[in-house]
Amino acid sequence: MGDGANVETKWVYSFGGGSSDGSAALKNLLGGKGANLAEMASLGLPVPPGFTLTTEVCTAYYDLEESYPGGLDAEVDEALKALEQKTGKVFGDAANPLLVSVRSGARASMPGMMDTVLNLGLSEVTVQGLAAKAGERFAYDSYRRFIQMYSNVVLGLRHDTFEYILDDYKDSQGFELDTEMEAGDWKEIVSQYKAAVQDKLGKPFPDDAREQLWGAIGAVFGSWMNDRAILYRKLNDIPAEWGTAVNVQSMVFGNMGETSATGVAFTRDPSTGGNTFYGEFLTNAQGEDVVAGIRTPAPISRARADELKSDEAPLEEVMPRVYKQLTDVADTLEAHYRDMQDIEFTVEDGVLYMLQTRNGKRTAAAALKIAVDMAKEGLISEDEAILRLEPAQLDQLLHPTISPSAKRDVVVKGLPASPGAAVGQVVFDSNEAAHLAEAGRAVILVRVETSPEDIHGMHAARAIVTARGGMTSHAAVVARGMGRPCVCGAGNLQIDTEAGVFRVGGREVKKGEIITVDGAEGEVLFGEVEMQQPDLSGDFGVLMAWADKVRKLNVRTNAETPADVNVAKEFGAEGIGLCRTEHMFFDAERIPVVRSMILAGSKEGREAALEKLLPMQRSDFEEIFRIMGEQPCTIRLLDPPLHEFMPHSEAEMQEVAASSGMDIKALKAQADALHESNPMLGHRGCRLGITYPEIYAMQARAIFEAAVAVASETGAKPVPEVMIPLVGTRKELDILKAVVDTAAKAVFSETGTVLDYLVGTMIELPRAALRAGQIAETAEFFSFGTNDLTQTTLGISRDDAGRFLTSYEEQGIYEKDPFVTIDQDGVGELVRMAAERGRATRSGIKLGICGEHGGDPASVIFCHNIGLDYVSCSPYRVPIARLAAAHAVLNKG
Ligand code: ADP
Ligand code: MG
Ligand code: MG
Repeated sequence: MGDGANVETKWVYSFGGGSSDGSAALKNLLGGKGANLAEMASLGLPVPPGFTLTTEVCTAYYDLEESYPGGLDAEVDEALKALEQKTGKVFGDAANPLLVSVRSGARASMPGMMDTVLNLGLSEVTVQGLAAKAGERFAYDSYRRFIQMYSNVVLGLRHDTFEYILDDYKDSQGFELDTEMEAGDWKEIVSQYKAAVQDKLGKPFPDDAREQLWGAIGAVFGSWMNDRAILYRKLNDIPAEWGTAVNVQSMVFGNMGETSATGVAFTRDPSTGGNTFYGEFLTNAQGEDVVAGIRTPAPISRARADELKSDEAPLEEVMPRVYKQLTDVADTLEAHYRDMQDIEFTVEDGVLYMLQTRNGKRTAAAALKIAVDMAKEGLISEDEAILRLEPAQLDQLLHPTISPSAKRDVVVKGLPASPGAAVGQVVFDSNEAAHLAEAGRAVILVRVETSPEDIHGMHAARAIVTARGGMTSHAAVVARGMGRPCVCGAGNLQIDTEAGVFRVGGREVKKGEIITVDGAEGEVLFGEVEMQQPDLSGDFGVLMAWADKVRKLNVRTNAETPADVNVAKEFGAEGIGLCRTEHMFFDAERIPVVRSMILAGSKEGREAALEKLLPMQRSDFEEIFRIMGEQPCTIRLLDPPLHEFMPHSEAEMQEVAASSGMDIKALKAQADALHESNPMLGHRGCRLGITYPEIYAMQARAIFEAAVAVASETGAKPVPEVMIPLVGTRKELDILKAVVDTAAKAVFSETGTVLDYLVGTMIELPRAALRAGQIAETAEFFSFGTNDLTQTTLGISRDDAGRFLTSYEEQGIYEKDPFVTIDQDGVGELVRMAAERGRATRSGIKLGICGEHGGDPASVIFCHNIGLDYVSCSPYRVPIARLAAAHAVLNKG
């Protein structure tokens, strides 16, 4: 620096041994592992010293077409020299060799990156020094491990090359276990391993420590661009420019006998969130032995051992002094990072070393408990606690789940398409599912894939499993909307409907047999697995109350059945944002009346039928108003094209013809005439209302009579908001608002009770968004119907299995499914514009959204930012929207 010339980039940062160049704040530069090693060292924790090549080296390496930036060499040499001083050992030295591990470490922990190489620096020469210090057997065992690891990770040779050699050797000697191998045996293995490398690669295994080091560094940077890493980055939105760091760290040995050990721990229980030390360890072991599953690790504490009913002695008893020190370290780390930590440690001959710390991954349940506990402990604020939980994670907490202690016998794995868990008997047919469910049976619908014809079966089923289809397949989308657990794309599943079985991996499950579906994990389990119900009080209630204090957006629900309305209310809905009245017409005892209304040739005929429908509609609304009290209820008048109500099958046709006394030919002709060739945009919504105003008049009357009745019954004044669908211009709304107002006036004067109400419209056509300024002259509220608005804006719809968009996402045409997240350059822009134009005309106009987007966290934040009054979503997503609305406020500050 100094003279203002090129500021030299610093490529290498040292840590440990009394001084560290870096800290946790430099995570982007040092990667997560390197930054936290530096931070732990600075906290005075026992970290084996080492150094980190920064992520900028990685970026430069690729910018320079896979060669290293100038000056790196010298900096690595310097860092090595400093490391030699700190450890009192010398890299490549025969008598007193410094051995290191080489560890990758990106900003975000990333599977797919190079595996860690341990014991680097061992050679024919240095192994002697290690043997002199720690014994010959240990030294040669370490050396052969290093050759195998390095050959695999850096040189790309297969593990089994080495496993065969070892097995053959043991056979020839009549050995069963590695423990029977003596120093001389390992020495022999080392030479056979090296011969194998020479044989496979045509060059010798590197014996020079520096050559080994640069080989391993190159392998880490190379792994940044391997297929697995690239795929992982793509799936997780990690930019390639971030790069990975490389950590070179002096070795400590957990495999130097019974006073040595290695282990992993969490400062709290990552599955329940309980404030108990959690983890496992192995004595006389190194590195990944704990997770590799070769030996079964022992529990870390007495409490854990009891919980697991383990006979193994816990670390707490095997090494009480180390255990005490480790729990102190855990406390220090939690207090420092103010979050639950996932730590890796090694004990070398009774001395504890810390090798890694990071914020621990946890289940949604644990995230909730830890956030609330830490806020109560004063470690974090309530606002921070709110931000510690991703709104989407809540989904896992709102459905029954498999109890964490349950035994799992996995039949097949697929995609975790819709969370929650359910138990039931296997059914392959949707009609059968519906029939059995009506008879009170719990069923699980198992299909190759689903289509709209399966809706009733899906609704009847407790859970859905499909062999084909992705996260946006028909099954997945519908199941999430219904709140049904779903596993889809379980590709190994072979369904033989004829034989009434499905087969998978040599197993058979017959129709009628009981399975359990774990939608959160994407697993199908055999038999009935123990479940737990969601707990909406306790920590959940506490966190939601904190979120409610913070948020500005109101949260309503889309619901029309009393059951759904009740669920939504329990989940904290503050009103109904969309009550679809047509759903009330499909009921078995009503549809004949609806059909006779449609088929009536005259206004008088229609009115006679509507007369019969009026009390039915009224009682629907009464129930809803009773539940919602004085909270607003947006009720949408009839929307779909009339052909949806007409019979479809031949049998139904005959039945309707018989009961209405109509000639079947005439009936068919009528049904054909009603058929919309473009059902999305045809004779429907307000257009129907304008052609047949008596339909809307009846519905409006039912709404106001119900509101007045409930007001006099309960004393609470319902707040109806009558919504006209599919409006494109002000004129349409003028005509229909007059119909609604007339009905209101009539009911109020007949009953002598006057209630407040609003008349507004759904904005679901681009034209309505463009005309929002004029429409707001009449409309008292807008509700953005973003499902249809998305289709009409993009000019596309999902096909029934959602496949059209899947291919669009795969090809990167849409980064995110626009039907789930408001695209700010399209639909979102229209919503923003319409909101502005609406407000410019009528400053207090009430604005909300009732599309699927109302339950999508990113879209909720968007709605907050453009100043909507509320979002409305399906009942099960209400808490998600409440939390997202709080995040919207807190993330701004
Ligand atoms: P991962 O990113 O897969 O967790 P790490 O780099 O953390 O890989 O290495 C895995 C394990 O290797 C560590 O948990 C630790 O047990 C062991 N290890 C890494 N470096 C050292 C070292 N310097 N001394 C002893 N063991 C080490
Ligand atoms: Mg690790
Ligand atoms: Mg619509």
